Amino acid sequence: MNEVIQINTDVVQDPTLPTTNHINCPQCNAAEAVFFQSYSTKKDAKMNLFYVCKVCRYKWTCVE
Ligand SMILES: [Zn+2]
Repeated sequence: MNEVIQINTDVVQDPTLPTTNHINCPQCNAAEAVFFQSYSTKKDAKMNLFYVCKVCRYKWTCVE
């Protein structure tokens, strides 16, 4: 089961979320992505960062 699948890509239109231009989209290579932390309730969950590309809405994750 992949948590990233559950992200609604409409988050790219949310102006309250932080964006980064320090990372490139793995799919289209755009340097603009919305990112946010995992809100998993699992006690042993690692801190995940989720990214959504603002150009093609590709979703990916990065474990801190
Ligand atoms: Zn992209």
